[in-house]
Amino acid sequence: MVVPVILSLDKTNLTSFSGNKQAYPVYIGIGTKNHQIRCQPSSHVMLLIGYIPVSKLECFSAKKQSIAGFQLFHNCMQTIVKPLVEAGKNGVRMNCADGFVHMAYPILAAYVANYPEQCLVTCCKENSCPKCTVTPKQCGDSVHSILRDPDKTLQTLAAQSRGHEPTEFVQHSLCPINPFWKDLPHCNIFACITPGILHQLHNGVFKDHIVSWASEAMGGGHQDEIDRHFCAMTPHTTLWHFEKGISLTSQWTGMELKNMEKVFLGVLANTTDPKVVRAVRGILDFIYYAHFEVHTDESLAHLDTAWVTFHENKEIFEELEIRTHFNISKLHNIKHYVDLIRTLGAAAGFSTEATNDETRTPLGAAHNKNPNQAVLEKGESTRYGRWWL
Ligand SMILES: [Zn+2]
Repeated sequence: MVVPVILSLDKTNLTSFSGNKQAYPVYIGIGTKNHQIRCQPSSHVMLLIGYIPVSKLECFSAKKQSIAGFQLFHNCMQTIVKPLVEAGKNGVRMNCADGFVHMAYPILAAYVANYPEQCLVTCCKENSCPKCTVTPKQCGDSVHSILRDPDKTLQTLAAQSRGHEPTEFVQHSLCPINPFWKDLPHCNIFACITPGILHQLHNGVFKDHIVSWASEAMGGGHQDEIDRHFCAMTPHTTLWHFEKGISLTSQWTGMELKNMEKVFLGVLANTTDPKVVRAVRGILDFIYYAHFEVHTDESLAHLDTAWVTFHENKEIFEELEIRTHFNISKLHNIKHYVDLIRTLGAAAGFSTEATNDETRTPLGAAHNKNPNQAVLEKGESTRYGRWWL
C-alpha cells in the first residue's frame, strides 16, 4: 500500500522583542485523509515532528551565511525524513483501519510551504519558480516553460559541488546545496510543491498587487478615492462594510481579504478603464475557482480562462504607467494551479492555514496574537466597521 506523505512547514516567531528568535516547525500528515479533516487544526491530522532552528550563523563570513543557513536546513530535514528512506524502499508493516496488517510504503507526495520556503526546499533562488525553469525575466508572460527534473537537478548540483560549474546551474537559478530529498525513493520534490491560496492569492496577488494597481488606476491615483467608494457602499447582511476604507491599514487577515474581494469589483465599477476592471475580474474569478473543494474539467477550464483574461488585459497597467513589467514570481506561480490541482487535488486542501492560524490574525503577526480577540461575534465592531452576518 502506497502512503502519500505530506510535509508542512511555516517559519514561526518563538520570541518577540527579545532577539526575535525564529524556527521552522515541521508537520507530517498523510494524503489518504479527507482534505476537509486534514485542514482542521483541531483534528490533529497534521502532527508536529520537529523544529528546525533559524540562525544568523555569524560564525561564517557574510557572503557564506545564507548558503550555510540553507544547508543547515537541509541537513536537519535529512535527519527528520531519514526513517522514510528505508520505509519507502522496503515497506513497513502497519495496522490499518480495516483490521489487517498492511505493508505500507510511505512516499513523499506533497510539501506545503510558503514561497520562500518552497525555494529553500527545492534549492532554487528566490526570484525563480520552484516548479519550472522559467527565467526571472519571463515570469510575467503567459509562456509555457519546461518543468524541473529532479534527476537532472541532482546531477547539476553534484557537478557544481565538484567545481565543474555547469551552465544549467546558472540558467535554472539553483543554489549550491546538498538536498535532503536526494535519497527519498520515488520523490519528485518539484511535483510536491503545492498551491498556497492564503499567501499566493489573497495576500500576494490580490493584496500586494491588484489592490494597489487598481487603486492607482482609479481617480487619477488619489489614494482616498478608493476609500470613498468603500465607505459609500450600502451595508448588506452578507457583506462586510469597510466604513473607514482600506488605504490606512497595512496588515490584513485572510478573512478580511476574502471579504474585500467580495466587494472589490463593485468598488471599481465605472471608475476606471474597462480593461482594468476586466483584468481585476480575471484575478478575482481565478481566486474563486481556486477555492473549489471539488473540481471538474469544466471548473478547471474556467480557472484557466480567468488566468488568460488577466493576461489579455494586463497591458492597461503599463499604458497607465502603473507597471513597467509583470515579472512577479507569485503572479507566475498561479499558472501552475491547473496542473497542480489535477495531480494533487483541490488547492483548498493544501493551505498552511491548517498549521497556522493566519486566517484570523494579521498576516505576519500570527504568533503574537491575543486569542481572545481572534473570533468575531455577530455584529461585533471591527476596525473597518461592523461585520454583518
Ligand atoms: Zn513555473
